[in-house]
Amino acid sequence: MAFKTYTELLRHPNWQRKRLEVLTLAQFACEHCGDKETTLNVHHGYYEKGKKPREYPLNCFTCLCEPCHEKVQEILATTRRQIGTLDRYDVQRAAGYLAMLDAVHPDDVIDAWTTDFVQGMADYLGVRCQHLLEELDNCMTYAEILKVAEQLPKAPEARLRRQDLTDG
Ligand SMILES: [Zn+2]
Repeated sequence: MAFKTYTELLRHPNWQRKRLEVLTLAQFACEHCGDKETTLNVHHGYYEKGKKPREYPLNCFTCLCEPCHEKVQEILATTRRQIGTLDRYDVQRAAGYLAMLDAVHPDDVIDAWTTDFVQGMADYLGVRCQHLLEELDNCMTYAEILKVAEQLPKAPEARLRRQDLTDG
């Protein structure tokens, strides 16, 4: 196959189909502010070297109006810069937190490689790291750890999670 530039790939019918799928799922409204009048963009959450636009999973894309798209790109750039400047302990803690946020496949096996990683999971779950460490030997998957965490006492010092902020 002849080499194609990324811009050429974006014009390909396969990508056009994917783009339409994202727009349709969002009912042609900005997923951030609900705007239906401003030009809509399909935001690409991340890039991997050599991967074609159509090969990304659907949850990598978001339908956004132009102003929201600019804002989201700004926030992502800041977040990526911040992750890049964390020390090795905090980066593991952040990875543990992100792994829980991203646990869209509940049957995936947990790869808790350091105590800091487990601390990040505990931050997300609102439980003590020590309690989670004790349970981890009996849990293989994210589904199992979520179930176990429900039975654990809440850590009083735990930071607020998104759920806590939106529950009235
Ligand atoms: Zn918007």
